[in-house]
Amino acid sequence: MILIVGGAGYIGSHINKVLHEHGEETLVLDNLSYGHEEFVKWGEFIEGDISDTSLLEEIFEKYDVDAVMHFSAFTYVGESVENPEKYYINNLKNTLNLLITMKKHGVNKFIFSSTCAVYGEPKTLPITEDHPLNPVNPYGNSKLMVEKILEDYSKAYDFKYVSLRYFNAAGADPDMEIGEWHQPETHLIPLVLDAASGRTESVSIFGTNYPTPDGTCIRDYVHVLDLAQAHYKALNYLKNNNKSEIFNLGNGNGFSVQEIIHTCEEVTGLEINTQEASPRPGDPPVLVGSSLKANEILGWDPEWSDINDIISTAWKWHQQLYKKSTQS
Ligand code: UDP
Repeated sequence: MILIVGGAGYIGSHINKVLHEHGEETLVLDNLSYGHEEFVKWGEFIEGDISDTSLLEEIFEKYDVDAVMHFSAFTYVGESVENPEKYYINNLKNTLNLLITMKKHGVNKFIFSSTCAVYGEPKTLPITEDHPLNPVNPYGNSKLMVEKILEDYSKAYDFKYVSLRYFNAAGADPDMEIGEWHQPETHLIPLVLDAASGRTESVSIFGTNYPTPDGTCIRDYVHVLDLAQAHYKALNYLKNNNKSEIFNLGNGNGFSVQEIIHTCEEVTGLEINTQEASPRPGDPPVLVGSSLKANEILGWDPEWSDINDIISTAWKWHQQLYKKSTQS
């Protein structure tokens, strides 16, 4: 059985679905602080927190857990700057608590949801896994600190991990069973779709004088289901190789904020109002990743490489989500 910590959230729920499609049994542990119980459509569900050692003890005693996948981190960069303690308690201390309890119970395979924020300002593009690690905010620091702990655990103990450094997760399950639903929402694509659908007046463009062709930030958007497939491949890698690894997960193509807005106009057929706003502190002009290593070692090849298709699934989900919430 695979324990998915944070499996009621955006990325964790898609991983749960994909693991089931591959015949894996899953158990979701989620405190529902940001997740949604209705997203746990597969496997068993326990509501709880990884700070609760006795609950973790009970889980590892009761269930035959082969591997743990961990998604229950806080991810709001701005909030992490204002309240670093919150990030170090949850993302670092509680993760260590999980690792300690796993070790005690002999559970030795771990897949970690990491981020391209561990690189900080890129020195070379596309970013490869050996790029220097210089996070520029507490969120990125907390993720890098966990990676360091994992490296040390892997050297010292019978313990192996795969750390997956995501670029910008986007899109939704094309069957529309689950999708992106953050409260509050801070991500570009759902906010642009809010403006398209009239839920908001306009979308803010954070910075228009970046050193990029149209002056707006460039990011590498990767479909959440492609991320999910990479986790399944990482699980098999751990089962077959008994070796720890770190992989970037991105599409290798960059799109500017303006390009995303134009693509959303094309996909929705709606006009989108924008307004210029100040750059967000700590936002590098360009973040594009090389996923060559994941391709070569895991055989990961993203299916959703067309940004139009990625946004189409996000739009379909957005319409369904808000149709439902206005009816209820
Ligand atoms: N962005 C923007 N307006 C928004 C939200 C985001 O211009 O309302 C920009 C943001 O500055 C970044 C890009 O869109 O350059 C992607 O931001 P997002 O928060 O989706 O992901 P991040 O790259 O921060 O993980």
